[in-house]
Amino acid sequence: MTEPLLKVENLKKHFPITGGILGRPVSSVKAVDGVSFTVNKGETLGIVGESGCGKSTTGRMLMRLIDPSDGKVTFEDRELTSLSNSEMRKIRREMQMVFQDPFASLNPRHTVEKILEEPLKVHGMGSAKERKERVHELLNIVGLSSYHAKRYPHQFSGGQRQRIGIARALMTKPKLIIADEPVSALDVSIQSQVLNLMQDLQKEFGLTYIFIAHDLGVVRHISDRVGVMYLGKMVELSDSENLYEKPLHPYTQALLSAVPVPDPDFERDTILLQGDIPSPSNPPSGCTFHTRCPHATDMCKQKVPEFKEHQPGHYVACHLY
Ligand code: SF4
Repeated sequence: MTEPLLKVENLKKHFPITGGILGRPVSSVKAVDGVSFTVNKGETLGIVGESGCGKSTTGRMLMRLIDPSDGKVTFEDRELTSLSNSEMRKIRREMQMVFQDPFASLNPRHTVEKILEEPLKVHGMGSAKERKERVHELLNIVGLSSYHAKRYPHQFSGGQRQRIGIARALMTKPKLIIADEPVSALDVSIQSQVLNLMQDLQKEFGLTYIFIAHDLGVVRHISDRVGVMYLGKMVELSDSENLYEKPLHPYTQALLSAVPVPDPDFERDTILLQGDIPSPSNPPSGCTFHTRCPHATDMCKQKVPEFKEHQPGHYVACHLY
């Protein structure tokens, strides 16, 4: 039976744009504009979209690394947006983040041991001896060795550094991991190793993942369900099989048509989208995808499509359905 771990309702982040001598807000960038979804215990939800679609801002808002402008985030039975900073700090023990660039997210002046111990110290967990033991345990779990503990981040390859980033996220035994483009900076051959490691860890520790990526190909094998974002909104959400086999939204169809298929006999027309993503400070009227959509009608320019359940578990925001 599916049991929700995290519930996101109408989440928004509007960054004000100021102008004039007094620096008053004159408009806003709608980085995230009313996103809703649920993540069930033990599953992986992929969130996909081009850069600037608001997927990373969404991930950061779930951790309250960025405060939302509106909406609710409920983790188990706790509503996170109303918590004080100190209450939120305690919750972060149960939800951790893995970042895209492992080199930038690891302090270059600290040894791996110090980097991995840090989350335990922040949350007051364990004695010095227990913390060290946990560091060595985690290094082995992620496929490194105890002797790596005294080394510095620059002494590792990109893939090894991401293993350290994953180990750091696991130190506090979290329930939820939000991975923001965790393999995008890695070579393709290393990407699959890190993805396999994440899948093994999920099985072993019963983890729940939110896996953010710009490429539908990367999330396919790791995600149980996938949400597609465009200009701050979720436009389609479904279990992976349905989304990849029968995508409904024209934007998802275009993204999928660009994913390479490792089968020389498989033929598929690439759907080329016209133009660039419009600016989130001045999004198009109606369906924000209408400026690039091959099926756009007059109604699409005027009316915002509702994000609704078209088939059980398959949600889409498009007037075609
Ligand atoms: Fe295209 Fe209209 Fe559907 Fe938007 S609502 S995706 S413009 S068909």
